[in-house]
Amino acid sequence: MSQILLQAVRLIDPFNGVDLEECDLLLEDGVLEKVGAGLKLPKGATAVRREGSVVAPSFLDLHCHLREPGQPWKERIARATAAAAAGGFGAVCAMANLTPPVDTVERLRRIQRHNKTWGRVPVLQFAACTKDLEGGELANLEALARAGAVGFSDDGRHGMSEDRLAEALRRAAELELVVAIHPEDEALLMLANRSSRDPSQWRVRPPGAELSAIEKAISALRDSPGARLHLQHVSTAGGVDLVRRAKQEGLPLTAEVTPHHLMLTGASGDAGPADPARCNPPLRTEADRMALWEALLEGTIDAIASDHAPHEAAPPSERSPGFSGIQLVLSAVLGQGGALSHLSRVVETLTAGPRRVLGPAGAGAPGDGIRSGEAASLTWFDPNQSWTPSPQSWLSLGTNTPFWGEPLKGTVLATFAGGRMVHLNRELVPELDGD
Ligand SMILES: [Zn+2]
Repeated sequence: MSQILLQAVRLIDPFNGVDLEECDLLLEDGVLEKVGAGLKLPKGATAVRREGSVVAPSFLDLHCHLREPGQPWKERIARATAAAAAGGFGAVCAMANLTPPVDTVERLRRIQRHNKTWGRVPVLQFAACTKDLEGGELANLEALARAGAVGFSDDGRHGMSEDRLAEALRRAAELELVVAIHPEDEALLMLANRSSRDPSQWRVRPPGAELSAIEKAISALRDSPGARLHLQHVSTAGGVDLVRRAKQEGLPLTAEVTPHHLMLTGASGDAGPADPARCNPPLRTEADRMALWEALLEGTIDAIASDHAPHEAAPPSERSPGFSGIQLVLSAVLGQGGALSHLSRVVETLTAGPRRVLGPAGAGAPGDGIRSGEAASLTWFDPNQSWTPSPQSWLSLGTNTPFWGEPLKGTVLATFAGGRMVHLNRELVPELDGD
């Protein structure tokens, strides 16, 4: 029998409105036995105390790209989910833009088997909205839902017309599933890129493409009673304003922001091929970045999602867009000035926020609140401890991150998911090693 007593932590549980200093948690064989102040240390139990550390429900990532099957040289499910656990995530949502895309039941079942075999933490699989992610004919959403898809997204592409999106929203509403979109208007992207029809060549990505896509999507949502629409990686102040107004109107709209859009800025949104910090949508201005942060704190943005997009190493001119970053999500947020004074809101955007986006499809995934007597799904982190992404600390196969070698604030000490310790920082809490 293994017993662990975490002593004097700050306990933040947004599901139950809890934010308590100096709490003790007793875990026995992965079950959270007791929560309270000044718990007695049982005989034979290991006591661990780390000043200023925090325990929260394990995090849920709404948006990552696991690349397998199809592109195993970019990422492996095992590596990405180990990186997720090291980032405090007890479950992740994987996007459908694999090679080939997850647009049939047969493909969904195959990838679910891979996820189950190799995932260090549970992987909730999204299915495509449209066949081949092309924005035309809808996939068989009903059959995909029956086979266990947790939502629908063509992420990476956004070729659906307003009418097509409205149709997808109405069908997904019947299934109680969310439709998540990558809001960049492809007609405008094509125009901005000299009418090139090849999405991989669209390097110029003006803010107006995001605004246009969000406006049309909100209009489609108005025509689709009962539907839930989620906007992935909102990147502009204008986009945030549209979300704010739609929410004030009472529309069932949710939105996420990525760690890199919260932390970094780009020149103008038309980063050229030599820009090492290239992603879609691109990094925007300081005013955009500040607007995202404010929107996150006030609740206009519901969730932080990694958009983990690992790629093989390549010279700058040949790099594919996106960053490998599931391991540093928490650190990216805690690196913001003032983040620590909003810690319980930050935790909410990593736990209850993303779960609300999924709705009933998220039920059963680890991390839906802290309750004694149940299998532990917890993230224990030290918000003041620094770490540096390096070959020693980095678990994803993709090292395409602008933060390589940069010290980051906020280190996950241990993650429990469904009663299993899926991550342990052996250096910082050696007491638990071998448990
Ligand atoms: Zn995307």
